[in-house]
Amino acid sequence: MEEIIELTQEPTAQTGELGITILNQWIRENYTEHPLTYIIKTWGCQMNERDSEIMAGVVEECGYTRVDREEEADLIVYNTCLIRENAEMKVFGNLGQLKALKKKNPKMRIALCGCMAQKEHIVEKLKKSYPHVDLVFGTHNIHELPVLLMDSYKVNRRQIHVLEDGVKTYQNLPSRRLYDFKGFVNIMFGCNNFCSYCVVPYTRGREQSRSKDEILAEVQEMADSGYQEITLLGQNVNSYGNDLDSSVVFADLLEEIAAIEGIKRIRFMTSHPKDISHHLIDIMAKYPTICNQLHLPVQAGSNRILKKMNRKYTKESYLEKLNYAKSVIPNLTISTDLIVGFPGETEADFQDTLSMVREAEYDFAFSYLYSPRAGTPAATDPDQVPDDVKHHRFDRLMETVNPIFLRKNEALVGKTLTVLVEGVSKNDSSILNGRTKGSKLIHFPGDPGLIGSIVRVNVKRAQTFILFGEVE
Ligand code: SF4
Repeated sequence: MEEIIELTQEPTAQTGELGITILNQWIRENYTEHPLTYIIKTWGCQMNERDSEIMAGVVEECGYTRVDREEEADLIVYNTCLIRENAEMKVFGNLGQLKALKKKNPKMRIALCGCMAQKEHIVEKLKKSYPHVDLVFGTHNIHELPVLLMDSYKVNRRQIHVLEDGVKTYQNLPSRRLYDFKGFVNIMFGCNNFCSYCVVPYTRGREQSRSKDEILAEVQEMADSGYQEITLLGQNVNSYGNDLDSSVVFADLLEEIAAIEGIKRIRFMTSHPKDISHHLIDIMAKYPTICNQLHLPVQAGSNRILKKMNRKYTKESYLEKLNYAKSVIPNLTISTDLIVGFPGETEADFQDTLSMVREAEYDFAFSYLYSPRAGTPAATDPDQVPDDVKHHRFDRLMETVNPIFLRKNEALVGKTLTVLVEGVSKNDSSILNGRTKGSKLIHFPGDPGLIGSIVRVNVKRAQTFILFGEVE
């Protein structure tokens, strides 16, 4: 039995706040034996992580308590990603395993949200083959979670509600941040670029900037609560403000945030290479609280492939901006995203990518095999690269970039860097981990009491993806 709720009006912030109050009361009246519990599993990007923090805040306000194991949860939320096929397969695999858990705990509610929920063929698959999934909602209506949950309890029917687009009013909802010393701040949602391989414009909608005042208030609140580091989030932060009436641009916003006392580190992602300006780079160089880190996804080094990807920049224009940033920001850490085996990629195109990464000298890169995403133009390109060729190119890319990463890390040996201590090593409780201002991961012996503080660490040793040091 299914209930598909039709959209009858624009969602509003009240939908969320009111829903929380009503569900909280309903749970208190109907579930008196023990507190209801929840777990949220998140796949994908930082936008999803931030959405999960908001959903955690919402369900805690409704009366749920967080647990670490699905077996103990009365509510399981999968916040999903569509960017790669692997993640999608994993979600379906995990969902299948939840069937047995639900049998043991019939009051359990299983919810699927995030980018996968935005695709009709996935919702159809859930309807047909995953009857134990109780709630399906999209990236534009997470504020409706309390209402959907309560309807699901009351009528014991599946609730599916996915909006194609919407206003992100849920930012005003409570959130439960993962850390109390570093956090994400959404500055905008969606993307207008339609790169030919990407599902984001179809799952997250068109660009919508939050108002500058709202963002500044959130950062101020975090500064007042003792946060040391913030990361400003958007699919393309460089086009922040284009949809607002005011003439504010991202560089102005960044400058105002840098003036807020208390926040010691400001990061942002993601920057689209076509939109990053010298002005923005100059602002980065001007303020010591803006981290010396730039993630600038190049995706490919061949102009022919960049054109097919609809990226709207060339290798030359990209390198010009990157080199300018390197020249004005001391000790800049640069990172990128790379796609191997895009449809039509020839050996010569791939060689252009290799020469690009050699020239750029990245500190690290997120490299992926191209994976076709249904509904995107590249997925139906007849010129798909065979899997074995993709894998062979990927291996050669690793052989090229890894020595560069190592060399750049080795250049830091002997230097003393400031590090935000983030946690304890999984394998050794006497070892702490943290990030340098340039976002390099570093391990060092220390007291867990240092977590959340910024310390000076002398780099003793380097590996390809990690530094090792000692607190000074
Ligand atoms: S800029 Fe391109 S790759 Fe990035 S989210 Fe937008 S469409 Fe996707």
